[in-house]
Amino acid sequence: MTSPPRPANRHHKRPRGEGQWALGYREPLNKNEENKKNDDGLNVRQRIIDVYSKRGFDSIDPADLRGRFRWFGLYTQRKPGIDGGKTAILEPEELDDRYFMLRVRIDGGRLNLAQLRTIADIANRYARGTADVTDRQNIQLHWIEVESVPAIWEALEAVGLSTMEACGDTPRVMLGCPLAGIDADEVIDATPQIEDTVARYIGDPAYSNLPRKFKSAMSGCPAHCTVHEINDIAFVGVVNEQGEKGFDLWVGGGLSTNPMLGKRLGTFVRPEQVHEVWAGVIGIFRDYGYRRLRHRARIKFLVNDWGPEKFREILEKEYLRFPLPDGPAPEPPRGGRRDHVGVHKQKNGDFYVGFAPKVGRLDGDRLNLIADIAERYGSDSVRTTVEQKMVILDIAPDKVDGVVADLEAADLQVNPSTFRRQTMACTGIEYCKLAIVETKGLASDLIDELERRLPGFTDPLTINVNGCPNSCARIQVADIGLKGQLITNEGGEQVEGFQIHLGGSLGVNPGFGRKVRGLKATAGELPDYIERVLKNFQSQKDDGETFSA
Ligand code: SF4
Repeated sequence: MTSPPRPANRHHKRPRGEGQWALGYREPLNKNEENKKNDDGLNVRQRIIDVYSKRGFDSIDPADLRGRFRWFGLYTQRKPGIDGGKTAILEPEELDDRYFMLRVRIDGGRLNLAQLRTIADIANRYARGTADVTDRQNIQLHWIEVESVPAIWEALEAVGLSTMEACGDTPRVMLGCPLAGIDADEVIDATPQIEDTVARYIGDPAYSNLPRKFKSAMSGCPAHCTVHEINDIAFVGVVNEQGEKGFDLWVGGGLSTNPMLGKRLGTFVRPEQVHEVWAGVIGIFRDYGYRRLRHRARIKFLVNDWGPEKFREILEKEYLRFPLPDGPAPEPPRGGRRDHVGVHKQKNGDFYVGFAPKVGRLDGDRLNLIADIAERYGSDSVRTTVEQKMVILDIAPDKVDGVVADLEAADLQVNPSTFRRQTMACTGIEYCKLAIVETKGLASDLIDELERRLPGFTDPLTINVNGCPNSCARIQVADIGLKGQLITNEGGEQVEGFQIHLGGSLGVNPGFGRKVRGLKATAGELPDYIERVLKNFQSQKDDGETFSA
């Protein structure tokens, strides 16, 4: 464990009372901060092993159950049968089921077959088969009982996986391009930086009590597949004027209820400096981040208040104690979609095959099947993507047809429709205690319906479905973003529905979707509504125009 860089001086003027440690506000200003001060989230692991897994659910201290369990990827899931209208009015304990969601962190989305099979076996043994690929490259299991957790950790750790800091006010999984190291066009392979940063800092108590969650991305992907603009920190591959490869540093991106795009600090970060710079930025967040109000506790609020120049100055002077050189902005993303679906050539002459499970929903058997297919055709490398998809790497040219045929036979489509390829959905009311509406099933049915109604639609188009006003499925940057809420139907009843955001995008012209006043649809009306919008778009678009352009 490394010791954290400490700020050299603490005399910056800030508004009083935001709970910034660096300004002397060490006394907890809300319950979450109090819980974190009482005991570090990382300490719950031993209690789970020694006490809770032996004595059962009822023995769990509520402060651990609803707080520190998250430091190891564990959330209580929603009690079945409680409708979305109750979400805001019930106490947390009334929504809590006795089962947990467990998030396995997969930094960079990198899995070998032993790891994939281990997750599959855990899903089948302890999670009623459930296994969803998330849009942050994790795999999420459900129906976990606390009694099973030590055995699950043992199995994961035996193959080099972990759930440490998969949730909570911590540095969560680090996004990386699934094609890192094999893409002929990549600017730089960020795998060593991801591995180094994870090894140094994940599980380090110096960074385990942050004001809120902290999301990282490190990538040299020419398609910008790790959506760097909406991470708390992102290192984006660039080449400087001297021809040196390194990273452009972005900070302060995030969606949720106050969406903000990340800001470039204008620095060039050499590969060997990445871990230090990452620690400096997270150190600023820990020390200067706003802890008083949870909804203002993400780093984006601090970056927004300070501006990039001041943030850079404090990073260099107080944390790094050396200046960073200026550097170039990243090249615009390679055209088209940002995902890695389909069959494409690697730089070594082999091929990778990206495929699309529907809205990330898989299960233990299908994870085992994916491992079998990869092994049958000579691959030991599988990747998860930030679009709830997966990729098998290192397929010899003469084996590609076999891989594609076997995946497609399992409905893991390699050449999916636009709708299958680019629709994402968050967890929703099936398991999530914050949800107001159902998402995965609805999005899955929507894909089927749109494929049936619009078989010739091939334009890029993202449809992202959220079950509440949070933005786990990134609704503000989708072409069509659907935010779950209860709405009144024609008969005057409260039913599941969606506020519609139109025209969000990242890349060359980034911007958040327009929330058109009054533009809402019930869940039942969605297929008609989207069909109408897309038919209008097709009939009116100019050559080369995309939906969000
Ligand atoms: Fe839960 Fe809301 Fe996130 Fe969906 S967007 S997973 S409903 S918190």
